[in-house]
Parts: sequence; structure tokens; C-alpha cells
Amino acid sequence: MGFELTPSTVEAWLREMDEHQLEQLWREADRVRRENVGDTVHLRGLIEISNHCCRLCGYCGLRADNRGLERYRMSREEILQCAQMARDLGFGTVVMQAGEDYGITRDWLADIIREIKRRHPDLAITLSLGERPDEDLLAWKNAGADRYLLRFETSDPDLYALIHPPAPGRTLSDRIAQLKRMREMGYEIGSGIMVGIPGQTYSMVARDILLFRELDLDMIGMGPYISHPATPLARMEPADPRAAERIRLPMPAPEGEQVPNSELMTYKVVALTRLACPEANIPSTTALATLNLAQGRELGLQRGANIVMPNLTPVTYRRLYEIYPAKACIAETPDQCYVCLKSRILRIGREIGTGPGGRRRLTSTVT
Ligand code: SAH
Repeated sequence: MGFELTPSTVEAWLREMDEHQLEQLWREADRVRRENVGDTVHLRGLIEISNHCCRLCGYCGLRADNRGLERYRMSREEILQCAQMARDLGFGTVVMQAGEDYGITRDWLADIIREIKRRHPDLAITLSLGERPDEDLLAWKNAGADRYLLRFETSDPDLYALIHPPAPGRTLSDRIAQLKRMREMGYEIGSGIMVGIPGQTYSMVARDILLFRELDLDMIGMGPYISHPATPLARMEPADPRAAERIRLPMPAPEGEQVPNSELMTYKVVALTRLACPEANIPSTTALATLNLAQGRELGLQRGANIVMPNLTPVTYRRLYEIYPAKACIAETPDQCYVCLKSRILRIGREIGTGPGGRRRLTSTVT
């Protein structure tokens, strides 16, 4: 099979089970990765700054009505200490991620962003804080934030409506429109999907991958969907009963159509995404390491990915950031996490990046 990417060829690759064929796919993804973003693996220090959330996403353990979860929000001082640690360990980027938490106010976070940039001017700042109003996003951009991650999770409008109820008093959200607005504001933008959401079909994932290309994303994150018992999707139920009245979509999808939430399927999506978006920054995610602790991250890096995100969240909070259960590396200190990841990267013959590692855009030569 060739590597021209159309909805039907991408779908055929997703269904491919022949080992020799897949070996070709891994090799091609690895070649395209090397030629476009090189052998450097960039480290993004992840700080999970709060697990409060006002939303009711059907897949996520942080959802507002999960009363079994003890909630936390890191202090300004704790966040600044994590940024310092990122610098001490030589990382070029920190990623501040949280539930959609309006206890994280516009001004409070803008002040923290300014302070990080004052202390560490070369440290890139990425935010991943959900569907915040444009005023917040603009204020944070002006304070010095560089990038924003917001996965669209699935490009299928029906599946999205079933798993992603609107914010209280609002209409169905449009994450793709938000991504476009953030690009206008000057952010580098990242998005992505979960692989194997109940109800997600092969043709949906093929369209997701082609949409990554159409959106010209700077960063693309994808990991296997992992069921969390405190969520409706674990019971194969839609998260939005009102959407379910008008949308008929079987969960899971019929036999032969449902995308498995497997390790192998995630590698296929990573590899095809690299072919669709040669220059994008693509992480080998924690969710992949959760399915295969021994090898998951390395195989991701060898099948298209070029980024890893060591966790800098203080150990006391880490177990509480439970978007899905049994997350990998939950008891490790940031130093241990760094040492482990570094040796994994070097062992597969790759280098560790030192700069911010923004997207490398092709510069046109002026003659
Ligand atoms: N509140 C932010 C950050 C959410 S956590 C936001 O909504 O963007 C980041 C990502 O974790 C989500 O975008 C989703 O793709 C992933 N995630 C959430 N629940 C998951 C689950 N059960 N299995 C796998 N990934 C999950």
C-alpha cells in the first residue's frame, strides 16, 4: 500500500493488520520524522496546576460531578517552583494543564505567566486549560504565553455532542473554531484526539487525521482512550441526555467499525499523523506509556513522535489528576521521571533538545 493520504487510504492503513505492511508504515513515519524534525526529542515539563473542573465530559475523571475525587489547585509559589525545576533540568517548555477551572482567574494566571517569563525569558509556556473565553486567552497571550493545547477529541459532530456536553447555560462548544481564533491571537496551536472512544469508527479517525493536516496544527497529541469508572462512557452511556434524544449513534460502534483503544491502533494513528503533518510536534504520550510501561514511549518515538512530556507536578497532587485510572509513573518525583525518560531517549539513539523547540517552519529563500 502507498502513502498517499485520502480518506480511504488512511482508513485502510488503520485497518491494516499485516506485520510486514505495518513495518513499512513505521519505517516511513520514522523517516518523515527524521527528515522534517530531526533526531532531537524536546522535553515539555508538565505541571498539572488544578483538578477542579466545571465541565461534564463523558470520558474524563475530572468531570464536575465526580464527588469521589479530592480537588486541589496549586499555589502561585508551587507553580513557580515547578518552572524553576523545569529550568534546572534543562527543559525548554513548561505546559500548564488543568480542568476547566474558573478558580484559575484571568489576572492570577497572567501574573504567574509574566513572573515565569521574567525569571526565565527563554522558557516557552504552553497552556492547556480548556475552553476559556477569548478575553482570558488574549490576556494570557499578552502576558507571554506561547502555545495552547486543546484537543478536539473527535471531528465527528455527533460523537462529539454525545461525549462533550456544553458548559452550564451555553450551547455546544466548537473547539475547532477556538483553535482558529487562538492562532489569530498569535498562539502556536495544538490539538488531537483520543483513540478508541466508544462509538468512534475507522472512517471518523481517518477524517480526524486529515483534519489535522487541514488545520495545519503546530502540535498534535493523541493517546488511547482509557475508561474511567466514574464516567458515563465507562457504562457506554452518552454524557449529554439531550443530545442523545436527537442523535442515534451506537456505543460501541457496530462490530468491525469500532476503533479499538489499543496500543497498536495508537501507533498507527501517530504514524499516519506524522505522514499527514511532517513538521508538527507530536508527543509520545503518558496514555501510551500507561498501556505499555516498558516500551510505549520508545515505540511512539520510533513511529513518528518527537516530543515527551516529563511530569513536574508535585507527587502529592499527581495521583489526584486522575483523568483516567492507573496513569503511568504516578509515584515518581520529577527528577526520577527526568532521569528515566532521558535514558530511554538516549538508548534509542536520539538526542535531547535544549531550546524551546517551537515548530520549525520552512523558510522560503529570497533570491
Ligand atoms: N481541561 C483541559 C485539559 C484536559 S486533560 C481540556 O479539556 O482541554 C487533556 C486530555 O486528556 C483531554 O483533551 C483528553 O484527550 C485526555 N483524556 C481525558 N480523559 C481521558 C481518558 N479517559 N482516557 C484517555 N485520555 C483522556
